[in-house]
Amino acid sequence: MKEQGVMLPTKGTPGDQLLKEMGDLRANDARWKEGRTWSLVYYPGEEIYDFLKKAYTMFFAENGLNPGAFPSIRKFETEVVAMTAGMLGGGPEACGAVTSCGTESIMMAIKTYRDKARAERPEITAPEMVIPETAHPAFYKAAHFLDVKAVRVPVRPDFRADVEAMKAAVTDNTILIVGSAPSYPQGVIDPIEELAALALEKGLSCHVDACLGGFMLPFVRKLGYPLPAFDFRVPGVTSISADVHKYGFAAKGASTIIFQNKDLRRHMFYVFTEWSGGIYAHPTMTGTRPGGSFAAAWAIMKHLGEEGYLRIADSIMKTTKKLIDGINSIPGLYVLGKPDMTVFAFTSDSLDIYALGDAMEARGWSSDRQQRPASLHCMVALAHEKVADQYLADLRECALAVAENKSSLPEGTAAMYGMMGTLPDRGMIKDLVLNFMDDLMSVK
Ligand SMILES: *Cc1c(COP(=O)(O)O)cnc(C)c1O
Repeated sequence: MKEQGVMLPTKGTPGDQLLKEMGDLRANDARWKEGRTWSLVYYPGEEIYDFLKKAYTMFFAENGLNPGAFPSIRKFETEVVAMTAGMLGGGPEACGAVTSCGTESIMMAIKTYRDKARAERPEITAPEMVIPETAHPAFYKAAHFLDVKAVRVPVRPDFRADVEAMKAAVTDNTILIVGSAPSYPQGVIDPIEELAALALEKGLSCHVDACLGGFMLPFVRKLGYPLPAFDFRVPGVTSISADVHKYGFAAKGASTIIFQNKDLRRHMFYVFTEWSGGIYAHPTMTGTRPGGSFAAAWAIMKHLGEEGYLRIADSIMKTTKKLIDGINSIPGLYVLGKPDMTVFAFTSDSLDIYALGDAMEARGWSSDRQQRPASLHCMVALAHEKVADQYLADLRECALAVAENKSSLPEGTAAMYGMMGTLPDRGMIKDLVLNFMDDLMSVK
C-alpha cells in the first residue's frame, strides 16, 4: 500500500465533503445518461432509476446469504426466478437462482453439469463442453476455474453456430452443448433448435446463454418481429442464463440461472456439513449476497410488467433499425450479419474501422472495439433514441475523414488494436494485457 502513497486517513472526512468529491469524480466517466456510450449501462430513464434506487436502498443492509433470516429476500429471489422462467417458456418444474452477474450464472451452469457428470458418468475424467467461438468469455473463465475443457468451434459466415462442426467436435468426454441468444459480438441467435436436438441425440445437456436476450427477446417476439425459438420451448434446452441487470433494467448485481428442473439444480448447490461455525449451504458462487440487488430486480420486474418491457423493447428496436439502416447507407460501412435484436457490430472493407472508432471517440462517442473481424460494437439502449441522428451524422463525417486520410499510418488506439488483432503471437498479447491490468489496478 505504502509505495502507492494512499493510506487510510488518520482523521475522518465529513460526509458532505466526500459526497461532493465523489460527484466531481464522475466528470471523466462514460457519459451513459446522454447516450454517448454503447455498452455497460442500460439506462431506462430517470424516473425508473429513482424508483429503483429506493427499492435498492430499502434492502441495502440485508444479506441474501441466509434467506431463512429474510423472508423478504427469499420472496424476491424465488419470484424473480419464477417470473424469468415463465418468460422463457419454463415448465412447472423450472427453477433456479439469482446470481450477481451473467458470468456467475454461466459459472453455476457449468458447475452443475460438471457435477452431474461426476455423479452420472464417472468414467469421464476430463469433461468437455462444445461452444461456438462467439460465446461469451465467461464460458472460458468458468472452464478455467472448474477444470472443464472448452472446445471452441468456428461459427458460420453469418456468425451463427455451425451445428455440423459442433457435432463433429463432440467426443466421449463431452457433457454440454452451448448456444447464445443472442451472442454478444454480432447480436445473432445461434440455431438453438438444432443445437438442442444435437444435445438430445447425444444424451447431453444444452445451455442457452440469454444473458443479453433473456429480457429482450420475449418482448421482441411479442411485438411481432420474426425470431427463431431459443428458450425452454425448444426440446433439449436444459438451462438458460438471463441478466436482469442488462435489458431487465435492474440495479447492477442481478442475473438469473434457470434450470429445467430441480434434479438438475441440486448439482448447483454447495453444502459443507463439518464446519465449526455450523452447517453451511449456498446456492451459488458468492457468500454474502446483496439484498439491495435482489430487491431492485424484483421491483423493476413488478414495476414495468410485460407492458413496460414491451414499450421499452418497441422503442429500442425502432432505434436499432434506424441505426442499422443508417450505418448501412454510409459509404464503406456495413453491419455484420443479420442482428436479431438490439445489439450489433459494423465494419468496413475500405477504411480502418479502429481509426473510425478513435475519430468517434474524439467526438465523445465510445464503443467497444472487436476483433475477428475488426468491428465497432453497439448495444442500443433507451438513451440512444434521442441521439441516433446525431450519431449517424457524426459517423458519416468521421467515415469520410478517415477514408480521405487512409494513406497515413494508424495512430493511438487504432494502431494498438490493429496490431493486437493481427499479431500471431497471442502469448505476447496476453503479456501486454497483463501489464495493462496491473496498470489499471494501480492507484493513480
Ligand atoms: C454480459 C454477458 C455475459 C456476462 O454477464 P456479466 O453480467 O457481465 O457477468 C454473458 N453472456 C453474454 C451474451 C453477455 O452479453
